[in-house]
Amino acid sequence: MTPPTVLISGAGVAGPTLAHFLARGGFRPTIVERASGLRSSGNPVDVRGPALPVAEELGIMPQLRAAATHATSMLVIDAKGRPAGRIPMPSSKSAAGNSEVELPRGDLAKILQEAARGDAELLWDDTITSVSQDTSGVDVTFERAAPRRFDLLVGADGLHSAVRRLVFGPEREFVRHMGVWVATMPLDEPADHPRDVLMHNTPGRLVSIHPSTGRPMVAFIFRGPMVDGFDHRDTAQHKRIVTDAYAGAGWRVPELLARLQATPDLYFDSVSQVRLPSWSQGRVTLLGDAASCVSLFGDGSSLAMAGAHTLATALAASPSDHASAFMVYEAAHRTRTDAKQRAAGLAATMLIPKTRLGIATRNVAARVLLSRA
Ligand SMILES: Cc1cc2nc3c(=O)[nH]c(=O)nc-3n(C[C@H](O)[C@H](O)[C@H](O)COP(=O)(O)OP(=O)(O)OC[C@H]3O[C@@H](n4cnc5c(N)ncnc54)[C@H](O)[C@@H]3O)c2cc1C
Repeated sequence: MTPPTVLISGAGVAGPTLAHFLARGGFRPTIVERASGLRSSGNPVDVRGPALPVAEELGIMPQLRAAATHATSMLVIDAKGRPAGRIPMPSSKSAAGNSEVELPRGDLAKILQEAARGDAELLWDDTITSVSQDTSGVDVTFERAAPRRFDLLVGADGLHSAVRRLVFGPEREFVRHMGVWVATMPLDEPADHPRDVLMHNTPGRLVSIHPSTGRPMVAFIFRGPMVDGFDHRDTAQHKRIVTDAYAGAGWRVPELLARLQATPDLYFDSVSQVRLPSWSQGRVTLLGDAASCVSLFGDGSSLAMAGAHTLATALAASPSDHASAFMVYEAAHRTRTDAKQRAAGLAATMLIPKTRLGIATRNVAARVLLSRA
């Protein structure tokens, strides 16, 4: 029997993890990725909780540790730049004794792509342009590659998933703005505090500098409603929104805003959750942020890895019954993602309190909570 073929859209965190475990389960995966090759950049993300056993099974713990950031605590900074309190970073362990790892998202994707090398055919610099399915397969056209037919299609292409749009409907039906925005950019200078994430809050606004692995990342995270005409690809609009939001802020904010104007490497987006009544339609299913984004507030990358493992395991158990496998995957993995989505409001309150009293209370509460974690 020829192995069933699976097209995965997206080589971020979920896509390569899925490809590896699908290949082990007797499937033939192909990944299509819009970017043109392996890149290493991005915001720090965590491999923790249910992702740790997945990383152990992939055999990538040494690579993850080698790419880990050096941050061990968060240092709260007041408007004059004085330290106003220290909050330890959480640190959990797997049953096998491995500690959670924080590393740049780009490095995590690169390590996972390397782990999946040889397991999947990779189509870089391309994207799906149309999908049509019948009872025996899925026909796909691409921007560059020739049209092909696959047994199954998985959308692991992130918050702004093309598969979700083409198969399930327009983004506005499933993506909810959480009243928070995030902008990040790298700082081309060594961190003053190589082990501390510096955090400066004013009501409804946070600026942080994360030491990362030597090239610090600045994040502006702030509360605000959806902007009329928001375009997630319009960098000039993004720079305007952030500059307006931080008018009058102290500490290093004026200098960081000047750098923001000049940076060629700005990430900006609405902090959003993705919610769909069902993650599958026929032979197509969604995974990672495309299915259940929690954005900043939750363990999105860990959930993406755990979900990929759950989906691959379900498909390997019922290779000729994708409908049952998709149901098993969704029932098992939704319990994880629903819990994280429900907790997002609390996480936002902790990260960006709305009032001065809220900021002071957060600083005390975080120290107590995290010292017990
Ligand atoms: C600022 C910020 C901070 C975060 N902090 C944390 C954190 O501290 N801890 C944590 O666990 N998580 C964090 N996250 C979330 C985490 O990054 C995501 O949840 C995780 O990357 C989701 O993995 P994914 O594979 O589903 O999607 P992604 O990692 O987004 O990968 C999607 C891939 O699909 C590709 N793609 C997109 N569109 C197409 C297309 N049309 N065709 C082909 N390919 C396409 C993209 O190029 C990308 O490679 C953060 C996210 C952001 C934005």
